[in-house]
Amino acid sequence: MALPAVHRDPALPERVTIYEVGARDGLQNEKGVIGLDTKLEFVQRLTGAGLPIVEATSFVHPRWVPQLADAADLVARLDLHGTTPYPVLVPNERGLDRALEAGVTHVAVFASATETFAEKNLNSTYETQFAMFEPVVSRALEAGLKVRAYLSMCFGDPWEGEVALDRVVTAGKRLLDMGAYELSLGDTIGVGTAHHVEALLDAFGEAGVSTGSSDGSSRLAMHFHDTYGQALANTYAALRKGVTTFDASAGGLGGCPYAKSATGNLATEDLVWMLDGLGIAHGVDLAGLAQTSAWMAQQLGRPSPSAVVRALTTA
Ligand code: MG
Repeated sequence: MALPAVHRDPALPERVTIYEVGARDGLQNEKGVIGLDTKLEFVQRLTGAGLPIVEATSFVHPRWVPQLADAADLVARLDLHGTTPYPVLVPNERGLDRALEAGVTHVAVFASATETFAEKNLNSTYETQFAMFEPVVSRALEAGLKVRAYLSMCFGDPWEGEVALDRVVTAGKRLLDMGAYELSLGDTIGVGTAHHVEALLDAFGEAGVSTGSSDGSSRLAMHFHDTYGQALANTYAALRKGVTTFDASAGGLGGCPYAKSATGNLATEDLVWMLDGLGIAHGVDLAGLAQTSAWMAQQLGRPSPSAVVRALTTA
C-alpha cells in the first residue's frame, strides 16, 4: 500500500541518515549462534536496500559476546572501501588493535551515563570508562578512522531509576571532546517519552552541542528502543528538534544482553514508514528492507517484532 503524497512540515529536516545497527546490536542478542554466511548475507542485503551506514559487528572479547566471535572473519569479507561504511564496536585498546588489523574505517566506542551500567556492561566505573576510551579514540583518530560514541542509559537505568539530564550532557560532552564525530544517545531500556527527549536535547543545546540540522553541524544521533512503545513518538520529538541521524535495527532485532528489561530496538522499517509519511528523505528501499527482515526472521525461526515488516510481508 502506498502512502498519499505529503508535504513536509518545514520545521522538520528534509533528510535524515539511518544508522543501521541490526547486524551488531540485533544479532549480539541472539541466544543461538548465527552462521557467518548468514551474517554476511544480512549485511549485504541491508547495504543493497540502501542503508547508508551499516554497523557490522563488534570487536568485544568473544567471552563477552560469543555471538560475534567471528567479527574478524565477517569484516574480512566486506568491501571496506566502497560507499557504505561498516563501523565496528571496540570496547578497549585490544578491540581497537583487532579492528585496525582488520582494516576497518569506522569504529564506535560505548560508554554509560550511569555508574551501575558502566560496571555491568563495561566492567568499569563511570569515571574510569573515560580513561579507558581516551587512548582508544586518540589512537583511532591518529590512524585516520572515524569514531562514533554511544552513550547508554540516557533516559533511565533499571538499577538507578531516573537519570539526570546534566549527567547525560556531561558524559556526552566528554565523549565528543575526545574527538567522536557523533554521539548516539541511547534509551537503552526504552523508558523515555517525547517531552523527556525534548528536554534532553534542549539541555545539550544549552551546553553548546547543536541539535539543529540547517547547517549540518549536528553531532547528536538518537538510539531509541521500543520497549514501552515510545520509539516512534520519541523519534518525532527529536526530528522536531532538528536531529538528523537515527539508529535503527532491521526488523526490530535486538536489545541489550546486560540489561534484562532492554528489548526491541526501533525497527528500521517502522522508522522508514514514518519518514515516508512525513516526506523526509532517507534513501532506503522499504520493500527490499522488509524482505530482508522477513528472511532473517525465517533464519531465526520467529516472526519479526516490527509492525511494518509484519504488515508488508507474510513472515
Ligand atoms: Mg539498541
